[in-house]
Amino acid sequence: MTYMKNVTTLEYNRDLCSGCGFCTTVCPHEVFKMDNRKAAIVDKDNCMECGACMMNCPTGAIAVDKGVGCAYAVIVSKLRGSEEISCDCGGGECEEESSSGGCC
Ligand code: SF4
Ligand code: SF4
Repeated sequence: MTYMKNVTTLEYNRDLCSGCGFCTTVCPHEVFKMDNRKAAIVDKDNCMECGACMMNCPTGAIAVDKGVGCAYAVIVSKLRGSEEISCDCGGGECEEESSSGGCC
């Protein structure tokens, strides 16, 4: 499932990856896979910014603004049944654009 295109704050530094595979285990949306003994991002837009990969990565190879991104704001708004979507990205109030999949 793709949440929002090009809004996740997920960043990955392959040079820091030790190949432990924890990120592939803990990610609920299979954003990571193992590739040649290193993690690789399969589909960044699947990331819902839960932060599990970052918290379990022993080498600091992953960074994500856990729970403050647009993707999080959209998910919370959907769960609450709210029409208004906003986040703290600095872009002001976000309007959900179902046709483009954009947020801000
Ligand atoms: S933040 Fe959560 S959803 Fe995003 S890649 Fe990490 S574990 Fe997966
Ligand atoms: S948890 Fe970190 S070190 Fe382990 S495979 Fe994933 S990115 Fe690499």
